[in-house]
Amino acid sequence: MIRFKAVSKRYPGGHDALRGLDFHVERGELVFLTGHSGAGKSTLLKLIPVLERPSGGSINVHGVDLSRLGKRRIPFLRRRIGMIFQDHRLLLDRTIYDNVALPLIINGVAQRDIPRRVRAALDKVGLLNREKAYPVTLSGGEQQRVGIARAVVTRPPILLADEPTGNLDPELSADIMTLFEQFNRVGVTILIASHDLGLIQRMRHRCLVLERGALIDDLRPGGAA
Ligand code: ADP
Ligand code: ADP
Repeated sequence: MIRFKAVSKRYPGGHDALRGLDFHVERGELVFLTGHSGAGKSTLLKLIPVLERPSGGSINVHGVDLSRLGKRRIPFLRRRIGMIFQDHRLLLDRTIYDNVALPLIINGVAQRDIPRRVRAALDKVGLLNREKAYPVTLSGGEQQRVGIARAVVTRPPILLADEPTGNLDPELSADIMTLFEQFNRVGVTILIASHDLGLIQRMRHRCLVLERGALIDDLRPGGAA
């Protein structure tokens, strides 16, 4: 589903953010990406929806070689990838309903299908009763759940989350991770960048470990590499 071969990324200015990355995430996997701040986690995630281009190597997503993907095809790739950010990036002047409806509108989903799909997504994250609320009136955990509803409402086969629990206390973080597991169980491939090692260990999923841009470990639950 996501394959990196000898991928490197050097930002203008000469800093090597990623070096020689080789890994494969299969369809239906849930994989953590960990490492210290600056290890390259965000950069790695950004390469998948082509928010950044690699400096070397090749990336294949959903059967598509990204180096052959022209600018005009990028929006089609991004439709198949849901993204979740630490700061959730909700539009503060719009209701929860409107925030979650936005990706459907952008993707040209028929107007008559939108209410049902927005409510189905809000129901999945346990926020059906808050659709008329504005983001600032929600708790941090609820805001992040709206961010997840917005990411899944288009039913993307891939979800990418960058420190999705970075601003949350341990209990709320565990709730968010349970939500990701629920989407994973119905077949969504998920990559979650996090430096919360305690949380990752409790979850028992595969974990890619980055150190200064290099992949230094690929841990599988149960110890089998
Ligand atoms: P992480 O998500 O693990 O904290 P990042 O991918 O954000 O790591 O950063 C990896 C390295 O690349 C860091 O040294 C960071 O300073 C550098 N970096 C990230 N984004 C840019 C950028 N846009 N321009 C230059 N350097 C960057
Ligand atoms: P509907 O088919 O009416 O959209 P579902 O209960 O099947 O209702 O799905 C509810 C919502 O869950 C979807 O609209 C979407 O927001 C989210 N979702 C995202 N990915 C999946 C998936 N792979 N399977 C089920 N639901 C998903």
